[in-house]
Amino acid sequence: MKAKKHHSDFAVRLMEHLVVPTFVLDQTGHVIIWNKSCERLTGIAAADVIGTKRHWTGFYTEERPCLADLVIAHGGSQIPSLYTVDCSTDPDRDIFSAENWCHLPIVAGLRYLAIDAGPIHDEDGKLIAVVETLRDITVQKEAQDKLEVLARQDSLTGIPNRRLFDEYLEAEWQIATGTNHPLALLMIDIDHFKAYNDTLGHLAGDHCLKRIAELISAQTRRECDVCARYGGEEFAVILPRTDLAGAVAVAKRIARAVSLARIRNPGLGPTSKLTMSIGASAYDADNRPISPDELLRSADAALYAAKQSGRACVRTPSSLRAA
Ligand code: GH3
Ligand code: MG
Ligand code: MG
Repeated sequence: MKAKKHHSDFAVRLMEHLVVPTFVLDQTGHVIIWNKSCERLTGIAAADVIGTKRHWTGFYTEERPCLADLVIAHGGSQIPSLYTVDCSTDPDRDIFSAENWCHLPIVAGLRYLAIDAGPIHDEDGKLIAVVETLRDITVQKEAQDKLEVLARQDSLTGIPNRRLFDEYLEAEWQIATGTNHPLALLMIDIDHFKAYNDTLGHLAGDHCLKRIAELISAQTRRECDVCARYGGEEFAVILPRTDLAGAVAVAKRIARAVSLARIRNPGLGPTSKLTMSIGASAYDADNRPISPDELLRSADAALYAAKQSGRACVRTPSSLRAA
């Protein structure tokens, strides 16, 4: 008996000094261990939580279950609604893993924690305790988030790239078709940009693309509008809750802003100005493309028509039908 007591004292001491922030609840959800690393992480002293159910105060500003509480309550199904990421690998096991933004009240403010919680059973299989361990992975999470933003951003202009454009278009398509609101698209291509590059050089070309991105962005001011670099000297604009007539109006505004910027294209002639061709398409009362791809294809076809009719103009699928 004495040897057993000695062993459990030793185990408690080990856990108290473990470098991994750890706390343990008994089967009724009261804190029985709150180790030194957990004190350092949360700034809350063991003496203030041991014997209570106030372990949540170490991580959240409002009372809510921690992962260890969910283990006791067999509440694995609540993880997706309570945590940023559910990392539990085996739904049939009662060991839970999750990641969450936690508000560590005293020490560090908002931190991103990787959390594991698992049960301890006695010889008869009865739950006697739940151990929760925590890792602060804020630095990794922030680096990963930054990379994800960069992977969706055009490095030259800073606006969304084609990958992000595709994601937005798919999402806006679902909203538009689900709510029966219109959705419009502009495909914009700079006219004779090869001539611009050939006369002024590639660096000047890059600078010009940045300028054009700014001019287009400035004309698509609503929070929901997305202006992206689709590739090369081509830009695309998603205009939620906008019909074809509205899209043509935005396209003309963009063309006018570029015209007012008086960017010269000397490759075409000493007084020539840079212009753009724009194709507009929409999902609205009169136009019913059946997929985002078809919406894109019709904007592309309209852009091609704009090029065919001499550039520096806006065309739509209806102007193609009328022709
Ligand atoms: P069009 O009116 O038919 O569109 O003629 P264009 O000369 O604009 O079209 P073309 O497809 O012949 O040439 C596109 C040019 O855009 C050629 C390419 O060097 C230039 N371009 C594409 N991406 C970049 C870039 O990132 N930087 C620079 N400086 N130029 C680029
Ligand atoms: Mg092009
Ligand atoms: Mg071009």
